[in-house]
Amino acid sequence: MPTIEERLNEIKEILNKASEAYYTKDMPIMEDYEYDKLMNELIKIEEEHPELKTLDSPTNRIGGEVLTKFKKVTHETKMASLSDAFSYEELYDFDKRVKEVAPEAKYLCELKIDGLSVSLKYSNGILVEASTRGNGLVGEDITHNVRTIKSVPLKLKNNDSLEVRGEIYMPRESLRKLNLEREEAGEEIFANCRNAAAGSVRQLDSKVASKRNLDAFLYYYMEDDILTQEEALIKMRELGFNVNPNYMLCNSMDDVIKYIEKMGELRPNLPYDIDGIVIKVNQLELHSIIGETVKYPKWAIAYKFPPEEVKTQLLDIIYQVGRTGVITPVGVFKPVSLAGSVVSKATLHNEDYIKMKDVHIGDIVTLHKAGDVIPEVVGPVLEERKEIKPFVMIDKCPCCGEALKRYEGEADWYCINPLCKDKLINKLIHFASKPAYNIDSLGDKLSRLLFELGYLTDVSSIFNLKFNYNELVNIPGLGEKSITNLLNAIEESKKNNLDRLVFGLGIRHVGAKAALIISKRFKDIDGIINATFEELSNLDDIGEVIARCVVDYFNNPLNLELIDRLKNLGLNTKYIGEELIEGFFTGKKVVLTGTISMPRDEAKMLIMKQGGKISESVSKKTDIVIAGEAAGSKLDKAHELGIYIMDDKEFQEKIKR
Ligand code: NAD
Repeated sequence: MPTIEERLNEIKEILNKASEAYYTKDMPIMEDYEYDKLMNELIKIEEEHPELKTLDSPTNRIGGEVLTKFKKVTHETKMASLSDAFSYEELYDFDKRVKEVAPEAKYLCELKIDGLSVSLKYSNGILVEASTRGNGLVGEDITHNVRTIKSVPLKLKNNDSLEVRGEIYMPRESLRKLNLEREEAGEEIFANCRNAAAGSVRQLDSKVASKRNLDAFLYYYMEDDILTQEEALIKMRELGFNVNPNYMLCNSMDDVIKYIEKMGELRPNLPYDIDGIVIKVNQLELHSIIGETVKYPKWAIAYKFPPEEVKTQLLDIIYQVGRTGVITPVGVFKPVSLAGSVVSKATLHNEDYIKMKDVHIGDIVTLHKAGDVIPEVVGPVLEERKEIKPFVMIDKCPCCGEALKRYEGEADWYCINPLCKDKLINKLIHFASKPAYNIDSLGDKLSRLLFELGYLTDVSSIFNLKFNYNELVNIPGLGEKSITNLLNAIEESKKNNLDRLVFGLGIRHVGAKAALIISKRFKDIDGIINATFEELSNLDDIGEVIARCVVDYFNNPLNLELIDRLKNLGLNTKYIGEELIEGFFTGKKVVLTGTISMPRDEAKMLIMKQGGKISESVSKKTDIVIAGEAAGSKLDKAHELGIYIMDDKEFQEKIKR
C-alpha cells in the first residue's frame, strides 16, 4: 500500500500528464470521468491533509499552459472554471451553502456546452480581440480564427464597447465529417467535439478553423447594465449573439433536478455535445456576497452527466482481414443508441483483449464511447450472464480458410495466404492509396468493384487494366472519360520512385519511412531482394522486426514472381531519389509535431527526399520544427531553444519547391 503522500504524488503526476494532453495538445489520454474521479480523490486527500497541499497542486490550477506560438492576452476579469457536482446530493449541498448567505437566490440553469471557453472583446461595435481561457489569467489570442466563425458577429448592431464570454464548439455532424476526412487521409481522428474545437482554434493558420464549421454559444455578459443572468442571455441575443435557447429559471433545487433530467433525455438528440448542466445564481448582485475561490465562483456549479454507458447483447464476433493479413475480431451487438449514434459493431482488437475483458457471444455487455467517439466494450454484465458461447479465437482465415499464424511477441493473428481475397482487395486499396503508389483515380470503391468483376487480382493487374478498355467503359457508372483518366493515372504512376513501390507492396511493419530508408540504401529492387537480415537491421531506424519482415517477404517465391511481373510491365524499380531534389530541407535536421495536412509518413518521406533528416525529439541540433495542429511540448521546447518553427502552411509551400 502506498503512503498517503505517495498516492497524492502519484495522482498529481497522472493529472498533470492528462491535463497537458487535454489542454495543450487537445489529444486526451484518459476519459473525463477517470480524470474527474482522480481529481476528487486528490481534493479529498488535500482536505484531510491540508499540510500536503502545495501551491502547484492541480486542484489550484485552471486549464493548461498558454501556448507560446500565440500572442498572450491578459484577462481583465479572471476566466474561472466551475466546481463540479456528480450527484444530486452534491447539488443540495451547494444549494445549502448558497442559501446560508443568500436565501433569496434563484437558479438559472444552462446547458454545459462541451467546447472551449472564449472571451470576445468589441470596441465601438467591432470585434477586436478573441482569446482562450488559458490559465484563467492569461489566454491565447485566437482572434484570426474566431473571425471565421459565422455566428460570431464581426460588428454589433450598435457601437458598444463590451466583453462577452461563451463556448466555441464543433457540432457533432461537423466532427463526424472531419473525422471521416482525416481517416481517409491517414490522420489521427479527434476523440470528441471538444478536442476537435480546441485543436481547430488553437492554430496559427485561420484557413484550418474556417473549414471546420465551428460555432459558438455566448453565456456571460461582462458589463454591468443588467441585473440577472437571465437578462444577460436576453441582452446578448438582442445584440446578435448566438445564445443557447435551452436555459431555464428555477426557484428551487428540486426544479433544477427536474430540468437536469429533462435535458439528460434530450442530450443524445442535440446536434452538439453537452457534458452537464451549469447552475448559476440568477441575481448578479448576490455573486459578490456568495464569493469565489481561486479556481471557481461559489455562486455557480456544473452538474456533470455520468458517462454514457448502455447495455446490449454481444450477438456475434466476426473477423476482418487486413491487407497484411492481420485478423481483427469485431463485436456485433444488438443495435443500441449511444451518445448520439446507433452502435451495432465495435472492434474487439485481438484475442488477448477479448480474453482480458472476459466477453463471450451471448453476454450482455456494457458499451461506452471512448472519448465520446469510438464505441468500446467496458465489460460483461456478469449478473446477467445466461447462455454464452465461450470465446475461442478462430484458427483459420474467415476468408480463405488458411491456417492463421501468430508471430512471437505479437498479439495479432495473421492470414499468411498471399492469395486470400480480402487480403488482396485491401492490398490493392493500400497500393493505390496516396502515401503509397498515389493512383488518384483508383479509390477504395473502384478497387473493390474491379476486383469483384475479376479485372483486378493482385497489384500487377492494375497495370493490365488498359487491355480491358472496351469492357471497362461499359461498366455502369464508369464510362470513357473516367476510364481514360484512370488508365492515364496508372501509366503515369509507373514512373514512381522505388520507395513508393516498396511501401505499396504492403510488407508487414514497413511504413513509408522504412521503405524510403531501405530504397535509398539498396538503390533498386534487386538490391533489396538480395539484402541480408544483418544489412537491413544495421540501417539507422530499421529494427530487427522490420528487417525480418523484409527478408521473409522476398523469400516467398510468389512475391518474387509478382516483382518480376511488375518489372515486365514497366514499373520503375530503381531509386532515383539521389538525383532528385535539392530543396529547403537538404541537410537539415527536422522534427515534426502536431497534425499537418498530409499524412505524417508522406511528409517525412518528402523531407527525406530532399536529403533532410527526421528526428523524433527537439534538441540544440534541430534545425527546423514543423508545428502542425495541436502541437505540444516539442513546440514549446523549440521556442525555448530558439529553433526555427514552421507552420503547416509554410511547410506545404516549402516542400512543393
Ligand atoms: P469544466 O469543464 O468542468 O467546466 C468549466 C467550463 O465549462 C467553463 O470554463 C466553460 O468553458 C464551460 N461551459 C460550458 N457551458 C457553460 C455555460 N453555460 N456556462 C458557463 N460555463 C460553461 O472545467 P474545465 O476547467 O474547463 O475542465 C475541467 C474538466 O475537463 C474536468 O472536469 C475533466 O472532465 C476535463 N479534463 C479532462 C482531462 C482528460 O484527460 N480527459 C484532462 C483535463 C481536464
